[in-house]
Amino acid sequence: MELAKSKKPFVLTIFGASGDLARLKIFPSLYSLMEQKKFPKDFFIVGFARTKKSDHEFQKEFEQSVIAARKGNVNKKLLTELVKHVKYVTGNYKSLGDFESYYEYRKNLTGTSDVTHIAYFSVPPNVFKSIIKNLGKTKESRNEDVRLVIEKPFGKDVASATELFHYVARYFDEEQVYLLDHYLGKSSVQSILPLRHANRFLNLIMKGPEVANIQITAFEDIGVADRVGYFDQVGTLRDMVQSHLLQVLALIAMSIPITEHAASLHREKYSILSALKFLKSRKNVVLGQYQSYRRTKYVPAGSKTETFAALRLFVDRESWYKVPIYLRTGKMLHEKHTYIVVELKKFAFQTHDEPPNRIIIELAPEEKISITLVNQHGKESHYQRVASSGTIACDGDDCLPEHGLLLLDVMRDNRINFLSFQEIIASWQLVDSIVRFKDKSAVPMHFYKDHGEGPDEHHELTKIDGFEWFDWH
Ligand code: NDP
Repeated sequence: MELAKSKKPFVLTIFGASGDLARLKIFPSLYSLMEQKKFPKDFFIVGFARTKKSDHEFQKEFEQSVIAARKGNVNKKLLTELVKHVKYVTGNYKSLGDFESYYEYRKNLTGTSDVTHIAYFSVPPNVFKSIIKNLGKTKESRNEDVRLVIEKPFGKDVASATELFHYVARYFDEEQVYLLDHYLGKSSVQSILPLRHANRFLNLIMKGPEVANIQITAFEDIGVADRVGYFDQVGTLRDMVQSHLLQVLALIAMSIPITEHAASLHREKYSILSALKFLKSRKNVVLGQYQSYRRTKYVPAGSKTETFAALRLFVDRESWYKVPIYLRTGKMLHEKHTYIVVELKKFAFQTHDEPPNRIIIELAPEEKISITLVNQHGKESHYQRVASSGTIACDGDDCLPEHGLLLLDVMRDNRINFLSFQEIIASWQLVDSIVRFKDKSAVPMHFYKDHGEGPDEHHELTKIDGFEWFDWH
């Protein structure tokens, strides 16, 4: 039931409310939701963390975070109004007693136990299980409306993700768990399915028999910044490929679901993710590390963690038979750019030099779709981008940031932009197979220039099939 229309009070608990994710993403998103009047009459936002703090101190921090994130562009009156709904509770994630007290606290706050309780896990993964267990144990009945929001990373391999999901299932149903990958909150990513759905011509040509290859590029122009502790343990394959890139690929390659139910979308994405194949050869994976990575504070000397990965994959399904899929992503590169290229087949009589048609969907920093056509002036072929759309992202007054859109989905009990357990396990199966291969076969690490274009070797990957990466110069 959509909460704005519901009379039920709702409590959003942010576990780990003193952390970066809460400060940088969640609090500003809550302000945006307030601005757009998305909250029901009775709602409470409670920060829960170990650090001792009063309501007043937390409210001040909340205000400061919103003002900083919006560069001062806030309506002070509205923010003051929002902050009246904000509370803080000091507690230990491992203490059942603290969770029992918190349960009573929520009842006193709302005057009832008939509430919707959204529990946002804004804590490191090693704390997830304690919170799940204690929330599970303090429920008065199985029917309580508790919704858990757990942000990626979901484990670090098949085994740990399976263990996490089994653990959750002891206390909650899968329908109560919202597995969040913030990429799926980008309005440009959310527009992929409607674009395919509403434009039959696009969908007709974005099919295996018409497509020469699919390329997904996600370049970052900054390094690991202050996430060394996490990143050095996981690397780019697990951090970027396992969820962000594979989710985007699934949205491009899946069949269009014929109903709007989240379960049908999850089924279609799973059918692609579970069919992805990495053919075990050193030719199909290129790994790199930017030159200054090992000199970054807290990075262990001689770290072998990859900051760049390029892959050649296939979808083991008749509809995508022999269509190569190329993925590449890396940090500290020459530009910040995320885009998908669907390269169409050429006529058999066309020469290698003639450029192909491409459907290009840009996700960041620009958000638009374009189709390239080739025309001829005299003897020369001219390559043109035509039918370039305006933005495909939300650009009206009613736009919300990624976490705002996703929180609204949770409030509306809409799971469409979240992941299913099955999808995550299928993605880990692929990534685990690549990680095992890289360790066993000593896939070389290529060091690349800071702010360069990544290791040259990654261009060999597309050449295997006679193609080239699409670059913007
Ligand atoms: P932090 O490391 O900042 O931790 C958040 C809070 O959790 C801390 O303020 C602290 O609160 C508590 N905490 C930290 N370490 C421990 C510990 N070992 N045991 C118990 N409590 C601890 O995390 P982030 O806010 O950066 O991220 C939260 C989650 O979101 C993580 O799972 C992260 O991987 C994920 N994420 C974060 C992103 C980001 O942009 N930061 C992006 C994508 C995902 P206190 O001590 O007061 O209890």
